[in-house]
Amino acid sequence: YRAKEEGGCFRFYAPEMNLRVMETLEMEADLRRALEREEFCLHYQPKVALATGKIYGAEALLRWRHPERGMVAPGTFIPLAEETGLILPIGEWVIGEVCAQLRRWRDAGLPVLPVAANLSARQFRREDLAETARCFLRERDLEPGLLEMELTESMIMRDPQAAVATMRQFKDLGVTLALDDFGTGYSSLNYLRRFPVDSLKIDRSFISDAADDPSAAAVVTSIVAIAHSLGLQAVAEGVETRRQLDFLRHCGCDSFQGFYFSRPLPAADFAALARQGIAG
Ligand code: C2E
Ligand code: MG
Ligand code: MG
Ligand code: MG
Repeated sequence: YRAKEEGGCFRFYAPEMNLRVMETLEMEADLRRALEREEFCLHYQPKVALATGKIYGAEALLRWRHPERGMVAPGTFIPLAEETGLILPIGEWVIGEVCAQLRRWRDAGLPVLPVAANLSARQFRREDLAETARCFLRERDLEPGLLEMELTESMIMRDPQAAVATMRQFKDLGVTLALDDFGTGYSSLNYLRRFPVDSLKIDRSFISDAADDPSAAAVVTSIVAIAHSLGLQAVAEGVETRRQLDFLRHCGCDSFQGFYFSRPLPAADFAALARQGIAG
């Protein structure tokens, strides 16, 4: 872009950039109001056990029903929410809503399966995070084992010592932990063995290549072996084809999520699917 001198001060011209700045500012203002206006909701993607084909849980994924933009995916607004700090109240809402939904399912006599919530880096650094989760669980009178937290390696590696302390708090509470997008970060195996996690979620990028690319297949096989040797569950993310599923079964992966079985669903649709129980 060009800078023009006008009476001693520089003005920057970049119409397309101005538009982006405007859009971001507008989005930030919208984001600030979204919680009060109850525009957020959670969709639930089934987790399926490979051995039985049964749904054994779900991952809660955040959605923003924007009045003008329609359904906005988290990739679009979570970075902005992180930057502005709005992720803290939003993240707290997510944990509270997961607990509220579990309670609604239980009250309705529907199957109540464990649900995983994604954490953000900023949220994970809060010292009262586990305490917040404990309060929500107690408020709804739920077993802590019904809640799982998904963390990423990069969140942990910023300050491994503090992270392990927070993870311990969750484990002491009875909440389970998963390492999300596993294989894309850079935690050493030496750290990994010290993380009190219950499962490794193999990143979708390896799964999508595994059926055709021997090196991606080797990565998947290795992650499954590492998980099992550390006594952890191996969960595959983003399974889209029958071939990928066959490959995962072949290498002994424990469970999977993906469009092949189901997209993330509104709570009522997930409950209906979970009621049928068995995967096709
Ligand atoms: P993630 O936790 O790794 O979630 C998996 C993403 O992959 C989800 O995208 C899901 O819809 C998508 N997915 C699942 N199966 C398939 C498949 O078979 N094929 C393809 N192509 N995609 C599949 P989504 O919902 O857009 O979420 C993106 C990311 O946003 C999540 O990645 C997570 O990092 C973040 N996120 C979602 N909800 C929350 C939340 O409540 N809090 C925070 N902090 N982050 C969230
Ligand atoms: Mg996740
Ligand atoms: Mg993931
Ligand atoms: Mg991912």
